[in-house]
Amino acid sequence: MDDLNHPATAPLGYMTEERIMIRDLAREFTREEVTPVANRLDPEKGDIPPALIEKMGELGFFGILIPEELGGLGLGAFEYCLVAEELAQGWMSVASIIARGNSFHVDIRGPEAERRTKAAAMAKGHYLGAAAFSEPQTGSDLSSVSCRARRDGDEWVVTGSKYWCTFADGADFIMVLCRIDEPLAPGARARTININIEKPRGQLPKGVSGSPIPKIGYFGWKTWELFFDEVRVPLSAGGVEGNGLKSTGQFLETARAHTAARSIGLAQAALDHAIGYAKDRVQFGEPISNFQAIRFKIATMATEIEAARQLMYHCCHEIDSGRPAKTQTSMVKYFASEMAERVTSEALQILGGAGYTTLHPVERFWRDARLTKIFEGTSEIQQRIIADQLLGRPVKVN
Ligand SMILES: Cc1cc2nc3c(=O)[nH]c(=O)nc-3n(C[C@H](O)[C@H](O)[C@H](O)COP(=O)(O)OP(=O)(O)OC[C@H]3O[C@@H](n4cnc5c(N)ncnc54)[C@H](O)[C@@H]3O)c2cc1C
Repeated sequence: MDDLNHPATAPLGYMTEERIMIRDLAREFTREEVTPVANRLDPEKGDIPPALIEKMGELGFFGILIPEELGGLGLGAFEYCLVAEELAQGWMSVASIIARGNSFHVDIRGPEAERRTKAAAMAKGHYLGAAAFSEPQTGSDLSSVSCRARRDGDEWVVTGSKYWCTFADGADFIMVLCRIDEPLAPGARARTININIEKPRGQLPKGVSGSPIPKIGYFGWKTWELFFDEVRVPLSAGGVEGNGLKSTGQFLETARAHTAARSIGLAQAALDHAIGYAKDRVQFGEPISNFQAIRFKIATMATEIEAARQLMYHCCHEIDSGRPAKTQTSMVKYFASEMAERVTSEALQILGGAGYTTLHPVERFWRDARLTKIFEGTSEIQQRIIADQLLGRPVKVN
């Protein structure tokens, strides 16, 4: 029988021996190290333990995309997503935290020697970032960002509010998307910049206050509302002036493939749990897995997961081949996250009342899958990107 969750045994051209090795390493790590921690800490909304982050650093999970000469594994989006899919089967926040190295290494600032040292530290999980793009009034439309950066001598001075900054406390720096505070010609749009504000791990930066937002899942780390009050950093902490939005967009392309991977992992974990439960649970004198209603649900769930996985493999292949993949990454993010919500919900249904308890991890997969439709660009924003590609931007006729 084909083992759909073990593509090594299926006729898939994408799976090289190296890829199978890294996937199996992540699978074993998830089973041994991540799932037990998630089962213990998710119910109490606890944070990912530093010791787990340290172990992930030793395995190179934060530096999959970091070039070998900078201390990373020098691999591609494909391997990155393979690992993320496995980790998400344990705890979505753990699959997410690897992005705090992999996605951020291109935005390390400072002189060459310093950048090299920081990249090596990042690959080991010792220099991790948080992203502060969203604001109370700015979500899908990041071009309306209002947090401002004023140039004062050889410093940037950052002032404003940010919302939804995950890992603001645990990270070593926060990348803040700002509009540049400068005189504008009438009708001109403000230029944007990303500024990295470094800080001690476990604290907010000096001049920043805030509090965690009471969310309904994605436990393992906190998501913050932040206020920046005239925070001063050297000019070298800023990226290219005027490039803030553009570099945020580049950041999001691989991020969306990574979100698809997390969605697929959650759905796979929910399916596996539902299959185990359906075989054990007896009603009307037979296992519920005998009932066609349950069998067809499982067949549909597995098919949807495999379709999303194959689209993800294709997207990663395009990214790694250096071809533009903006539309494909929107497609896979949209398809996989919608699929994950459906599949985790169906898994919960298969467990009946047991699914609606915290005694089984399916409720966690369901809560976390719900988020994948919202962050890294909502489903509606992905549909908009895909439709714009097919139809062109909407035009008004008058
Ligand atoms: C748990 C969590 C963690 C997060 N972590 C981070 C983080 O670390 N850093 C960070 O910067 N952000 C983070 N975010 C923010 C996240 O990226 C935003 O929530 C997301 O981009 C949507 O923005 P919004 O919530 O303001 O919704 P809005 O933009 O207000 O959208 C509301 C609704 O309107 C729809 N909509 C908006 N515009 C359009 C349009 N043009 N066409 C059709 N429909 C539209 C949306 O799809 C949605 O259904 C996080 C969010 C959550 C919930």
